[in-house]
Amino acid sequence: MTEETKTIVTEDGTVETNYDEVIESFDDMGLKEDLLRGIYAYGFEKPSAIQQRAIKPLIMMRDTIAQAQSGTGKTATFTIGLLQNIDIANRDCQALILAPTRELATQIVKVVMAIGDYLGITTMACIGGTNVREDMSKLQNGVQLVVGTPGRVFDMINRRALRVDYIQYFVLDEADEMLSRGFKDQIYDVFQKLPPTVHVGLFSATMPTDVLELTTKFMRDPIRILVKRDELTLDGIKQFYVMVEREEWKLDTLCDLYETLTITQAMIFVNTRRKVEWLTEKMHARDFTCSAIHADLDQKEREVIMREFRSGSSRVLITTDVLARGIDVQQVSLVINYDLPTNRENYIHRIGRGGRFGRKGVAINFLTNDDVRTLREIEQFYNTQIDEMPMNVADLI
Ligand code: ADP
Repeated sequence: MTEETKTIVTEDGTVETNYDEVIESFDDMGLKEDLLRGIYAYGFEKPSAIQQRAIKPLIMMRDTIAQAQSGTGKTATFTIGLLQNIDIANRDCQALILAPTRELATQIVKVVMAIGDYLGITTMACIGGTNVREDMSKLQNGVQLVVGTPGRVFDMINRRALRVDYIQYFVLDEADEMLSRGFKDQIYDVFQKLPPTVHVGLFSATMPTDVLELTTKFMRDPIRILVKRDELTLDGIKQFYVMVEREEWKLDTLCDLYETLTITQAMIFVNTRRKVEWLTEKMHARDFTCSAIHADLDQKEREVIMREFRSGSSRVLITTDVLARGIDVQQVSLVINYDLPTNRENYIHRIGRGGRFGRKGVAINFLTNDDVRTLREIEQFYNTQIDEMPMNVADLI
């Protein structure tokens, strides 16, 4: 069999993990002292399962595909892996991380700054909707680790504000989303600008087979750490449905649940930006407090709303799939799918906004008659259980 025809897909249609080395403590990872200090100061004591496995390959500069359930610490995995290899004496950009949304890129930068606090490295979020000149001047002063969204990063490379010559590692967070139709071309555009020696890391909770197959085209002998489909839902997140039967009855159902929503914090997902606006108006008209975010808002508004939600001053956030992935607000324990997501992967990502790092979470799916089949399919695909919502659901939060 030649290289070209070699397939990574096994007979049952899955792709398998090809790496099993585990390092059970941060101390044993051979990390720089100042990096280790940053990790402990951030409050981490023991590496999570994905951190025990994937930090080492990143440090070894291996191409790496790392899949792990939502909320299990993928961000710190690539953050630590990349920080270890940054040469502080070199002011140039040495690592580039791309994420699908501005909110996620901003969140990742915060983690990099916190964990890298004692290293004295420079980092920034390079995202759309912000001042181009400011980004250019920051980059020209030297930023060693850049986190961004694809459009702005590509623009900065083309304007030669972001110099790519020393970039050694390129990470795609939410990699399956980044390599899907909407983003793929933009990612390839950036990738082509990078040095041919660049190493690639892909991270996500979901890695569909077609994406894994695609990786054979641009990754070199990658380490693959994968999760089987039926192990992807977290036991800590209880999943329920409410049979609302008709679209018109969803709103009353949501209002009935409002007290439950505010026990801690909740995210409500709908499928369009207009519906976010519509639902928010309806809730306000009935005197229920909630905030809303979607991609049509301007960047300043998006920032304010995220800040309020992260601080807990707003407790119920209505949104679209723009926030389905990556967003980490530890207080969120309830996710409502007011509309079912239009793809299976985003089901996993949405419900994973609750139950962060082993916390409890509840996901509630509103079902019209037309949705019954779709939910059954999701249930079967992930071999998970989605029961009718019990009366005492508030006790589970
Ligand atoms: P993922 O990207 O896998 O969805 P995150 O990287 O956002 O998950 O991490 C989820 C939460 O777990 C974050 O709040 C993070 O601070 C926390 N966390 C990650 N690793 C550890 C660790 N080793 N110890 C304690 N908390 C951790």
